[in-house]
Amino acid sequence: MNTQPDPRTKAAVKAADRAHVFHSWSAQGLIDPLAVAGAEGSYFWDYDGNRYLDFSSQLVNTNIGHQHPKVVAAVREQAAKLCTIAPGFAVDVRAEAARLIAGRTPGDLDKIFFTNGGAEAVENAVRMARLHTGRPKVLSTYRSYHGATAAAINLTGDPRRWPSDTASAGVVHFWGPFLYRSPFHAETEEQECARALRHLEDTLAFEGPGTVAAIILETVPGTAGIMVPPAGYLAGVREICDRHGIVFVLDEVMAGFGRTGRWFAADHWDVTPDLLTFAKGVNSGYVPLGGVAISAEIAATFDERPYPGGLTYSGHPLACASAVATIEAMAEEGIVENAARIGEDVLGPGLRELAERHPSVGEVRGLGVFWAVELVRDRATREPLVPYNASGEANAPMAAFTAACKKSGLWPFVNMNRTHVVPPCTVSEDEARQGLALLDEALTAADAHTV
Ligand code: PLP
Repeated sequence: MNTQPDPRTKAAVKAADRAHVFHSWSAQGLIDPLAVAGAEGSYFWDYDGNRYLDFSSQLVNTNIGHQHPKVVAAVREQAAKLCTIAPGFAVDVRAEAARLIAGRTPGDLDKIFFTNGGAEAVENAVRMARLHTGRPKVLSTYRSYHGATAAAINLTGDPRRWPSDTASAGVVHFWGPFLYRSPFHAETEEQECARALRHLEDTLAFEGPGTVAAIILETVPGTAGIMVPPAGYLAGVREICDRHGIVFVLDEVMAGFGRTGRWFAADHWDVTPDLLTFAKGVNSGYVPLGGVAISAEIAATFDERPYPGGLTYSGHPLACASAVATIEAMAEEGIVENAARIGEDVLGPGLRELAERHPSVGEVRGLGVFWAVELVRDRATREPLVPYNASGEANAPMAAFTAACKKSGLWPFVNMNRTHVVPPCTVSEDEARQGLALLDEALTAADAHTV
C-alpha cells in the first residue's frame, strides 16, 4: 500500500481542483476538499501520509471495499475487449449482469432496466409506474432521499428538496414509521406500525387511491437516518398497494447489495415490491451503474408498446463487467454474511455500549453495516444536537465531532444531527472495533454540547 507523502502532487491537484472543479452540494468558496492519493479495502489516504478508516463507504457505496482486485481486473479485461456499445444491442456482459441481479432480487423481479445511477433509476421507476397504471400521483415519505434529478429530488422528503426549482406536480408526502421521533406519538413498535399504516390509508383516502400510480419507500430509509421499519409495516404497505392497484416501489439504492446483511433489505421482511431500484453496492461504484428490477406484470406492459426511456450509456459494458465481478466476489467471499456478522457481533453491541456511556447519544439503530448514531443535546427531551438543516455556526457541534473523527484517522458519514456507521461490507472485525474506539473518542467532543 503506497502511503508515501507527496506534497508537490498534492499542491498541483488542489490548485487544479480549486480552479476548475465545480463540486456538488457545496458553496464553492467555502470548501477545502481532501486530496486523495489512493485507497485499498477499508482505507483511503491523502498525499501527506494520513490514512483514513472509511466508515462512510464514500457515499455508502463501496460495499466491496476499495480496489477489489477481481473487480479492477474485470474492468481492465472488459476495456480491452469492448469498451462501449449502444443499449440496443445484446451483449454477453450486460446479459450476465442482468441474470445475476435478477437471480438475487426478491420474487418475480426478473427483468433489469439499467441506468447510470440511483436517481435515474428512481426517475424510470416512477415513469414505469405512471405508464403501467395510467395514473398521475406518486406518494413518498418525509425523512427520505431518492436522488437529485427532477422527479427524484421532488420525491425526497428532506430539506434538500426546498431549493429545487422543478415542479413537484403529482408528488404527495406522508410520514413513515420512526418510533424514536414518532410522528404518531406512539410508544411501542406495534403502535407505530399500526398508526403509520392508518395514516397512509387516510392520506390515500383524501388523495383518491385511483389517482395514485405508486408509493415509493426506501426499504430502510438511509440518508435520512437509517430507520429500520417495524415488523409488519412493509407487508402492510404491500397489502394497501394490492388493494388499490398501486405500484409498490422499494428504493434499495443504499440498502441493497449486502448493506443490511442480506442481498436486499426487503429480504428481512419477505416483501416483494413491483419495482426495486438499485445502484451503489451493485458494483460498489467502480463504474457508474444503477437500475430498476421489474416484476413480470409491469414488464409485460411494455411487451407490445415501447418503453420511452433510456440514455446513451444505459447498461454500459464496463459498468456491467464490474457488476458481474462484484456480485461473484460477494458470493464467493461471503461478503453479505460478513456484513450480517459484523453488525450482530461487533457494531450493534459496540454502538449500544457507546450509547450507554455518552450523554450525546440519543439512540443507535441499524442492521448489518448500516447504523445511525442519533446525537442529542438532551436525552430526556430528545432535542437534536443541531437543528435540522443547520448551517454555519448552528452546526458547530457536528463540525467539531467530524473534525475529531478525521484527526484520529476515522472518516465518518455525518448528516444533520447524526453520524452513520457505514463501513464497507468487507470490513474486518479488527477494523470495526478500531473504528468504534475512534468513534468513542470523538463522541466526547459531542458530549461537550449536551445540557
Ligand atoms: N435513492 C436512495 C435511497 C439513495 O440513498 C440515493 C443516494 O444516496 C439515491 C436514490 C440517488 O442515487 P445517485 O446519487 O446514484 O443518483
